[in-house]
Amino acid sequence: MLRASMIRRTMEISTTILLKNTKSKIPKSQKGFMSTNSISNGVPKERVDCVVIGAGVVGISIARELALKGREVVVIESAPTFGTGTSSRNSEVIHSGIYYPPKSLKVNRCSSDGSELEQVGFASYEVLVTCWSDNSKLEEADLPFRIFALQAIFCVKGRELLYKYCSDHGVPHKQIGKLIVATRSSEVKILNTLLNRGIENGVEGLRMMEGIEAMRIEPELQCVSAVLSPASGIVDTHSLMLSLVGEAENHRATFSYNTTVIGGQLEGNQIHIHISESKNLDDKCIGKFPMLQPDLILIPNLVVNSAGLSALSLAKRFNGFKNGVIPASYYARGCYFSLSNTKTPPFKYLIYPIPEDGGLGVHVTLDLDGQVKFGPDVEWIDCIDDISSFLNKFNYSVCADRVDKFYPEIRKYYPNLKDGSLEPGYTGIRPKLSGPQQSPADFVIQGEEIHGVPGLVNLLGIESPGLTSSLAIAEHLASKYLK
Ligand SMILES: Cc1cc2nc3c(=O)[nH]c(=O)nc-3n(C[C@H](O)[C@H](O)[C@H](O)COP(=O)(O)OP(=O)(O)OC[C@H]3O[C@@H](n4cnc5c(N)ncnc54)[C@H](O)[C@@H]3O)c2cc1C
Repeated sequence: MLRASMIRRTMEISTTILLKNTKSKIPKSQKGFMSTNSISNGVPKERVDCVVIGAGVVGISIARELALKGREVVVIESAPTFGTGTSSRNSEVIHSGIYYPPKSLKVNRCSSDGSELEQVGFASYEVLVTCWSDNSKLEEADLPFRIFALQAIFCVKGRELLYKYCSDHGVPHKQIGKLIVATRSSEVKILNTLLNRGIENGVEGLRMMEGIEAMRIEPELQCVSAVLSPASGIVDTHSLMLSLVGEAENHRATFSYNTTVIGGQLEGNQIHIHISESKNLDDKCIGKFPMLQPDLILIPNLVVNSAGLSALSLAKRFNGFKNGVIPASYYARGCYFSLSNTKTPPFKYLIYPIPEDGGLGVHVTLDLDGQVKFGPDVEWIDCIDDISSFLNKFNYSVCADRVDKFYPEIRKYYPNLKDGSLEPGYTGIRPKLSGPQQSPADFVIQGEEIHGVPGLVNLLGIESPGLTSSLAIAEHLASKYLK
């Protein structure tokens, strides 16, 4: 079957063939913008067992899990290496699982255009597990559906798996604990809600603290009360991904970098995945839906769309979907500023304020070298065209002016923050399924039972706590979708 060298060779061959074939036959104006359908006859096709699209922490975890199960796996990544997307632009926090709506399992159905959600009932945890393992238990009328508990369940399970993985494989990490703080008495009610939600989610060791106690263990902190979460921690994300990639490759998974999935087509009962060399797309960022010509078509038994920020745009390019299953998408950039000129970090714990609309609030994160950063804030941004998003051409620049909003936010819990001590850090972008002022959306995992395309799984809206949840998502995916 297909191997890395083969895929690379096939890409080279197919490009050569394509160039030869197309030079004389395709009018110049159409080159690169032809319907994939119309030219697919001349494009080389390869059968493979499993394809994972995207080598972020989630895609890599899935590739590893499938490879460990003895399956042949090819990972298609548009960038020159793994982990260059959101997986290297986050807080690197191992979340405990407090924030996410608990296992009350509201079962929701998308409206016909996929944008609105209508609550259709409640399910028990057992029903959720049954849904995962046996989709026939779901009523046709309840599809497409979303169950608002995936973040809670994956985060708690993922955290356990992640700590164990890091310990077993020597991945640098530290369980340093977190304080979520109320800085005004009006916030204490929200803190109580978070505490109860965390307990319902099965997070161990949570405890409410009087402000005085919290300020005793963190002398630079100012708060009226706090929730202590001892299970929270930090991880070196790059080392984690490196270890997972190594393990996947040792189990014969193939990573094909500089290759981009540009769409797909349902042919008979099988999905055909259209692939192009990334360099051939560089000048194709025109318009939202340019028709593109693939260099290669892969025909997998299972394909996982784990393309992070572009998973939704890519899903729209897979022909054969049921109507109304692709939800609306939003993007929220988060910016970090780091604390300069500090010999010793002012805090030992991660310090989080009360969550804000679209994010968890400008919090304190420590990395394993003791560097302190604050962020991320929330800036709603417009989406970019499909091809630019596949090639990760998002605007990641830090707007220095945003620092003016950071100082007052941080001083609510860290009043001694000195003027001029914040330096621009980096940004990350959240792939969101709910917009400003809307209630937060859960992760969406769509298989054939939802969208009707056999062998295709879409992972949509995998924002925080996606890093913490990655190993649990992978485990779930393999147990539910591997045939
Ligand atoms: C600001 C911020 C802070 C966060 N903090 C935390 C945290 O502290 N803890 C936590 O648990 N989670 C956190 N998260 C969430 C976490 O970082 C993400 O959920 C996780 O990294 C998502 O991984 P992924 O593999 O789905 O996506 P990505 O890392 O974005 O990977 C997707 C990959 O797909 C590739 N790709 C895209 N399109 C194509 C295509 N068409 N063909 C081929 N390849 C393609 C991209 O190049 C990319 O490498 C944070 C997120 C943000 C934005």
